[in-house]
Amino acid sequence: MISKKSPDYDVIVIGGGPAGMMAAGRAAMCGASVLLLEKNSGLGKKLLISGGGRSNFTNAEFDTSVLLKKYGERSKFLHSPFAQFSVKDTFQFFESHGMPTKVEAEKRAFPKSDTARSVLDALVHFMKEGGVVVKTESEVKKVVTHNDTYVVTEKGGSYSARAIVVSTGGLSHPETGSTGDGFRFLKKLGTAVNTGNASLVPIRTREIWGHALSGLAFAEAKITLLIDGKVKDKKQGVRVGKILFTHTGLSGPAILNMSMNIGEALEQGVVTLTIDIFPKEDLGALDKRLRALFQQNLNKKTRNVLKEFIPASLVDVTLAQHALDGEREVNGITKEERTRLCAWLKAMIITPTRLMGKDKAVVTSGGIALTDIDTKTMESKKLKKLYVVGDVLDVDRPSGGYSLQLCWTTGWVAGTHAAEKKKGP
Ligand SMILES: Cc1cc2nc3c(=O)[nH]c(=O)nc-3n(C[C@H](O)[C@H](O)[C@H](O)COP(=O)(O)OP(=O)(O)OC[C@H]3O[C@@H](n4cnc5c(N)ncnc54)[C@H](O)[C@@H]3O)c2cc1C
Repeated sequence: MISKKSPDYDVIVIGGGPAGMMAAGRAAMCGASVLLLEKNSGLGKKLLISGGGRSNFTNAEFDTSVLLKKYGERSKFLHSPFAQFSVKDTFQFFESHGMPTKVEAEKRAFPKSDTARSVLDALVHFMKEGGVVVKTESEVKKVVTHNDTYVVTEKGGSYSARAIVVSTGGLSHPETGSTGDGFRFLKKLGTAVNTGNASLVPIRTREIWGHALSGLAFAEAKITLLIDGKVKDKKQGVRVGKILFTHTGLSGPAILNMSMNIGEALEQGVVTLTIDIFPKEDLGALDKRLRALFQQNLNKKTRNVLKEFIPASLVDVTLAQHALDGEREVNGITKEERTRLCAWLKAMIITPTRLMGKDKAVVTSGGIALTDIDTKTMESKKLKKLYVVGDVLDVDRPSGGYSLQLCWTTGWVAGTHAAEKKKGP
C-alpha cells in the first residue's frame, strides 16, 4: 500500500492518554520524530477524571519490590520496566515539569494543586519540549505492520513510521475514548487478547437511605463482607479504607478493591456488607463518647447534637433508621436508643445487588498478556515494531495510583526503545 522510501515519522503513538503521552514525550526526548494521534478533541480525558478529578498519579512506595507485589502474579514481568522508570522517577519527572506533589493516606500521591489538570499540563509540556506532533480528532481505524508499518485514520489519512506505540486504553468509561480499539487492532494482527472484565468497579446497593447519602465519603471505614450472614474469608472479607456513597450504591477505593470479592460472593449466596464508620473505637468507647456529648447538651435538640458527632448529611438518615424525632431534646433519649444508634454506626447493613458494568469500572482486567511482550522494551514479541503500554496490557492492580504508575513506566520504556528504531545519525 504505502511503500514510501522513508517513513513519515520515527514513532507513531495511537492514543493520547497518560501512557501514550508519556511514550510520545520520551521518544521525542530520545531524538525521534513523533506523531501522536488522538480520537477525542482533547488529550487525557480519562486522566482528567482520575482520582475524583484530583488524579492519584502514583503511590509513594519507593521500594520497588514492595510496590510490585501490588501487581500480583504479573509482577515478575515488571522488574525490568520498573528498573528503567520507578516511582522515584515519576516524582522527579512531574516535579521537574512544574507539578509540585503531595502524599496522602495509603501513600497515595496527588498533585499539590488537587487537580488532574496539572498532571495533563506536565505531560503536554513534556511533549512540546520534544516537538511531538499532536493530531486530535484523528481516530485510527487500521494498523499495518507487515513490510511497511503504518496507520490509517478515519479521515483517510495514512501515516507510516518505524515503530508504533498502541496506547488506546482498556474498556472502562468508554465515553472517555477507551473503547477497546487497541484490542481489536492487535487481534487482527494475530495477537491473543484476554477478554476483559471489570476489575475495580463500584457496586449497586438496595437501601434507598444509602442512595440518599450520595456524595458522603468516609476516609476510613471498615467493611465486612458476609455471605449468608457469615464472614467466609477473613482476609478478603474485611477491609478498611475510604468509601463513598453514590446515588446507586457504594464506591471509593476500599469498595473498588473489594469489588471482585463482592462479585464472587453474589454468586454464592445472600450477600450483605456491614459498614463501621468508627473502626478505631469499640462500641463501648463510642457509646461513652456519645453519652458524654449528650450530657453536655441535655436540653438541645437531638438533631443538632448529632451533627457534632456524625456528618450532618448522615443525621436525618440515622434518625429515620431509629424512628427518632430530631426535634426531641437529648434528655428524652433512652440508654437503649443511644446504644442502638451507636451499634448501627458501627455496623450499618448494606445489601449489594450487583457490580456496576465494565463501562463504570475504574480498571478492566484483560488485554495483552505480558508473556506476549518483551517487557525490557514493551515491544510485542510477535509483532516487531509494535509497542504496547498502559491499560492495553493485561495487568490487574488495586486502586491507589498503581494504574497510572504502570502508564508512566510502560510509556517511558516503550518511548525509549521505540525511539531506537529511528534512522541512525
Ligand atoms: C473514574 C476513574 C478514576 C481513576 N482514578 C485513578 C487514579 O486516581 N489513579 C490511578 O492510578 N488510576 C486511576 N484510574 C485508572 C487510569 O485512569 C487508567 O489506568 C489510565 O487512564 C490508563 O491510561 P492509558 O493511557 O492506558 O489509557 P486511556 O487513559 O484510556 O487513554 C487512551 C486514549 O486513547 C484514545 N484512543 C482510543 N482508541 C483510539 C483510536 N482508535 N485512535 C486514536 N485514539 C484512540 C482515547 O480516546 C484515549 O484518549 C481511574 C480510572 C477511572 C475510569
